[in-house]
Amino acid sequence: MAVTEHAVVIAGGGPTGLMLAGELALAGVDVAIVERRASQELPGSRAGGLHARTIEVLDQRGIADRFLAEGQVAQVAAFGGVRLDISDFPTRHPYGLGLWQNHIERILAGWVDELAVPIYRGREVTGFAQGETGVDVEPADGESLRADYLVGCDGGRSVVRKAAGIEFPGWDPTTSALLAEVELTEEPEWGIHSDERGIHSFGRVEYEIRDGEIVYADHGPVRVMVTEEHVGNTAEPTLRDLSEALIGIWGTDYGVHSPTWITRFTDMTRQAAAYREGRVLLAGDAAHVHSPVGGQGLNIGVQDAVNLGWKLAQVVKGVSPDSLLDTYHAERHRVAARVLRNTMAQVALRRPDERTKALGETVSELLSMDEPRKRFAAMMSGLDVRYDLGEGHPQLGRRMPDLDLVTADGPLRVYTLLHGARPVLLDLGEPRRLDVTAWADRVQLVNAEHDGTWELPVVGAVPAPTAVLVRPDGHVAWVGDRTDAGLAEALTTWFGAP
Ligand SMILES: Cc1cc2nc3c(=O)[nH]c(=O)nc-3n(C[C@H](O)[C@H](O)[C@H](O)COP(=O)(O)OP(=O)(O)OC[C@H]3O[C@@H](n4cnc5c(N)ncnc54)[C@H](O)[C@@H]3O)c2cc1C
Repeated sequence: MAVTEHAVVIAGGGPTGLMLAGELALAGVDVAIVERRASQELPGSRAGGLHARTIEVLDQRGIADRFLAEGQVAQVAAFGGVRLDISDFPTRHPYGLGLWQNHIERILAGWVDELAVPIYRGREVTGFAQGETGVDVEPADGESLRADYLVGCDGGRSVVRKAAGIEFPGWDPTTSALLAEVELTEEPEWGIHSDERGIHSFGRVEYEIRDGEIVYADHGPVRVMVTEEHVGNTAEPTLRDLSEALIGIWGTDYGVHSPTWITRFTDMTRQAAAYREGRVLLAGDAAHVHSPVGGQGLNIGVQDAVNLGWKLAQVVKGVSPDSLLDTYHAERHRVAARVLRNTMAQVALRRPDERTKALGETVSELLSMDEPRKRFAAMMSGLDVRYDLGEGHPQLGRRMPDLDLVTADGPLRVYTLLHGARPVLLDLGEPRRLDVTAWADRVQLVNAEHDGTWELPVVGAVPAPTAVLVRPDGHVAWVGDRTDAGLAEALTTWFGAP
């Protein structure tokens, strides 16, 4: 049988797999995606949009405008149903974006296509065998694939995770809901409703945000969500199930018909015990599943990809030892564990009994205070992530702000320097004294001035560093304070030996 070789094979071309493919292609790695679906078409709308940090991450690659042009900018961050305004946050994108997942995937797929990543569509990974030198990937049919590394971005039921024998511990569901796109002959009460059974909603798929409020289109398909009476039904949901669930709540099914998509989701909460097993890695829903409350899943999947992409590229190219991949687990497992925790807390806060309502009102009161509002908003929008890179300047391990710089070639934004997904050493001091000659093939040295303060979400103003080493994912790996102490060590740790 013919064997096709790639440096990296990604199982699954959803949001996480597409983002990872783009990151690897930018780094010049031969990467391919194996995707079960015959096309990028997604039946149903699924995730509703992007949080601020994801928009920043896309801005770091020069593609945020593609998403902003199609979506609805709005204050979307919320905790337990309490809206958290981030319009005063120090970021170029102090908002979220309402944009359905089918559009997010289409735009990402367009970018990946420009980067000439091959996608084997209509093919399914059924297993793999890994050895010392590579992984043999087994598609259900057709020729087999061999890769140096395999990444499972194949969703919550990940075949790659199961075949790797990686445990997926967590918590069984406590609630279950049906979600569908349908036509209705009678008009329901639009919006979100809650009763003793839980939360239900009706909205048209097409909408606009005007003055911060959702205004639904007059016509077109309706997105219905209805909480089910029982948890644990695993059969494919049908129109009849939806009709019965609606009647159970409203006494009518509003003449529901013509479904284009019916699915069931729960608050099952699980996380892969390890994100890496030898030459096999996991990212996105394959590594973590939780309730959709707060709209975080797609966002952290895309951010997993941006953390992993440059590290995997360096390991594949032999620039860094494979131990660099362990920092992917160390950094991203903690981030998702926190999301699992906050979704479980939010599901608990939304329980319909009187005592939980009282607790919800108390939390809402707390979140109306400025400091709690900022902290929770930064958590929900992904702007507060700090990787543990040791003690030091508050900027260390945190996302680099998109500062306006002045260089010998004119004005420049920091994120523009990250478009190629290459590390940047920004020398902002006088006199210029930093030298990266030994890493010049990997690290861009940019001499620049920044006239203004440094401000981080939640942390506030921080002392202006004289230099920063920015990783391709936008996190700061080293901060200079008039000397280059520790710079060579940081360069070696993150970007390989000189
Ligand atoms: C109702 C609902 C609302 C949500 N709302 C939000 C929201 O507002 N914001 C948010 O951030 N997240 C939200 N999410 C979560 C979000 O949809 C997921 O977190 C996101 O899709 C994960 O992306 P992924 O690429 O990791 O996995 P997936 O999107 O599941 O993609 C996996 C891909 O792998 C393919 N695949 C699977 N198995 C194989 C195989 N064996 N071989 C080859 N290909 C395979 C699949 O066809 C698919 O294309 C919501 C989820 C639901 C259910």
